[in-house]
Amino acid sequence: MKIVLEHLTKKFPNRNKKIKEYVIAVNDFDYEIPDGKLVGLLGPSGCGKSTVLNLISGLEKPTQGKIYFGDDDVTELPAENRGVGLVFQNYALYPHLNVRENIRFPLENLRGKDKLTRDEMDRKVFETAKLVQIEGLLDRKPSEMSGGQQQRVAIARALVKKPKVLLLDEPLSNLDARLRLQTREELKRIQVETGITTIFVTHDQEEAMSICDTIVVMQDGRIMQQGNPQDVYDKPDNLFVAKFLGTPQINVFKGVVRAGSVFIGTDRVYRMEEDLGDRDVYVGIRPEGFIPDDSWNGRSEASDDKERLICEFRKLEVMGRDSSVLCANEFFEGTMIRAIVASGTGIKTPGGEVAFTIKPNKIHIFDAKTGKVLH
Ligand code: ADP
Ligand code: MG
Repeated sequence: MKIVLEHLTKKFPNRNKKIKEYVIAVNDFDYEIPDGKLVGLLGPSGCGKSTVLNLISGLEKPTQGKIYFGDDDVTELPAENRGVGLVFQNYALYPHLNVRENIRFPLENLRGKDKLTRDEMDRKVFETAKLVQIEGLLDRKPSEMSGGQQQRVAIARALVKKPKVLLLDEPLSNLDARLRLQTREELKRIQVETGITTIFVTHDQEEAMSICDTIVVMQDGRIMQQGNPQDVYDKPDNLFVAKFLGTPQINVFKGVVRAGSVFIGTDRVYRMEEDLGDRDVYVGIRPEGFIPDDSWNGRSEASDDKERLICEFRKLEVMGRDSSVLCANEFFEGTMIRAIVASGTGIKTPGGEVAFTIKPNKIHIFDAKTGKVLH
């Protein structure tokens, strides 16, 4: 089932009573979640991700805007009638109930025509436990299981009523690194197998990029960009998104555009086909976008007008297949530039400097004032 969020806004009174202004947790959020897809809601802590989920589930009422499930307006529908499955970071299982009873719990209070017999409940519990691969643990108590297993129980409990929508709020954050990787693959499998429209909230960009069909990047309650993860990575609309996606982070420099060329300091690093007009810009270069230039023998020798970026060489970190060339440049916005090259690449450092040419699809130019992408 598709979900349409129409100009959703949620304002909260400030938790600090002395501050009179409202907190705008979600700000004119306009988005359609396609049927049967896994959508990642991504952004830094406090950007409004949980509030968006709570609005969809009905735990919160929007200040403005509408929510549709399919063609039905559910904006005023109470949470319990929305057919939504929820999973939170802290599994929230009942400690005194075993796994079977925990998963069965949502089925127990079905009434009227939906009421189930004990046998029907047992069958549904078993089917769902099997889906998340914990059918062998039905008699255990939560305290007798690992974090990953407990989270599977929580997922089973959310799925047992066959919800129309599954909402996951940072479900992997309490797991250790290895389990987190494994469980995220599991989540993807379960989502594909059930075909349930799923919204997965995380602050971890790698997690979202690896399993989601679509990602929505948020800042301050607003959508900064949405789309297929690879497209958003390759074509960020703004500096915020460019910086938020990718580890190691994109390298950002202060630069200028003059007559169609991009300069960092006096180095012409890139020539463009189009004329953006002369202006101040931020130049973002992905770590994988640097090619060490072995034709370069130091500033005194360079007489060609090839595009290059010259940096002070600091350190080479070899990490198996790849190496990081760490270097500095006075126009760089962070502490250390990180260029990732294949291990074994020859790095020349005449006069303590290193020169790079930049891969055209790995350089992004942003307006210095608005942060909007120009190229
Ligand atoms: P996220 O899940 O992305 O970390 P949240 O949706 O929890 O962000 O919060 C968004 C903003 O709204 C934050 O500034 C948060 O402090 C504020 N907020 C969330 N819930 C409430 C509430 N019940 N009362 C007051 N402020 C809230
Ligand atoms: Mg949250």
